[in-house]
Amino acid sequence: MTWYQGLKGKIRFSVPLKSYTTFRIGGPAKYFIEPRDTEDLRSILGLLKKKKLAFLVIGSGSNILVSDAGLNCAVIKLSSPHFSKILVRGDFLEAGSGVLLSRLVLFCQEKGLSAIESLVGIPGTLGGALAMNAGAWGMNISSVVDSVTVLDAKLRIKTLSKKDIKFDYRKSGLSKYIILSAHLRVVKESKRAIRNRILELMQLRKQSQDLSYPSAGCIFKNPPADSAGRIIEDCGLKGLRVGGASVSLKHANFIINLNRASSRDVLKLITFVRKKVKAKSNINLKPEIKIWD
Ligand SMILES: Cc1cc2nc3c(=O)[nH]c(=O)nc-3n(C[C@H](O)[C@H](O)[C@H](O)COP(=O)(O)OP(=O)(O)OC[C@H]3O[C@@H](n4cnc5c(N)ncnc54)[C@H](O)[C@@H]3O)c2cc1C
Repeated sequence: MTWYQGLKGKIRFSVPLKSYTTFRIGGPAKYFIEPRDTEDLRSILGLLKKKKLAFLVIGSGSNILVSDAGLNCAVIKLSSPHFSKILVRGDFLEAGSGVLLSRLVLFCQEKGLSAIESLVGIPGTLGGALAMNAGAWGMNISSVVDSVTVLDAKLRIKTLSKKDIKFDYRKSGLSKYIILSAHLRVVKESKRAIRNRILELMQLRKQSQDLSYPSAGCIFKNPPADSAGRIIEDCGLKGLRVGGASVSLKHANFIINLNRASSRDVLKLITFVRKKVKAKSNINLKPEIKIWD
């Protein structure tokens, strides 16, 4: 009998994570599990606990750098239809954590609901966006959160209202939970106005971000009232290359995977950039991305 007997979703073994990250970097996960629904998730977590196996939750893998050596743990992806539902209830939108932000933005536009159009172009899931408190153009997802339903370490389902969640710049107190779904506050607005805003923001994104190569978006957090990109550019580091990884010529806070970069290439580049910035500007840049090794 296998230890995962009874799992209703999918389990695969030694799955290369580079297929699940926007960086296109990452070695194999020992187990890659896609539970069918919340009960299935709870039972597989119980089995992992019994086996003393650690796990990580992956969304779209757009804010992580995974080690080339892979991960000796289980990686859980909430990709089944159960975690991808979207419902409108009055002034609230209820969505599963596996929903892609791009789908959510489009859904809202089609229904004439304004809330998250500023997040258009962020290639993550709702779960990843909540865990990271993703944001753009001065808006963070926390500003539209009403409540978030999570699974805690004791496998209890809890609904946390916004006041019970600590949101900060590109981080949240939700990281210690598995995010299942969320209620977001929406406001009725003309579909055309929302659409125009989306098109304008997509244009701005195309102009400012390097979207032609795999990346994880901004590598470092912006220091208070400053821009990590500007600081790195002022150090003359645009175009700096280690192996297959390079500081983008278009946006200095992007590290791009130019040509089969390894996680080691990216980590070396991160270390080099931090050292140079510290030496020139006395600023300690902090990574925004999560490093899984
Ligand atoms: C081209 C590009 C542009 C980007 N632009 C922006 C931007 O403008 N603004 C911005 O904020 N970010 C941006 N990002 C970064 C990234 O897209 C966001 O942080 C996104 O919200 C991450 O979501 P994800 O689903 O990919 O999460 P992942 O990268 O898969 O995971 C990120 C973290 O969230 C956790 N997590 C994911 N799902 C869950 C869950 N269900 N429960 C608990 N924890 C979970 C993971 O464990 C991990 O710690 C960009 C990235 C790229 C590649």
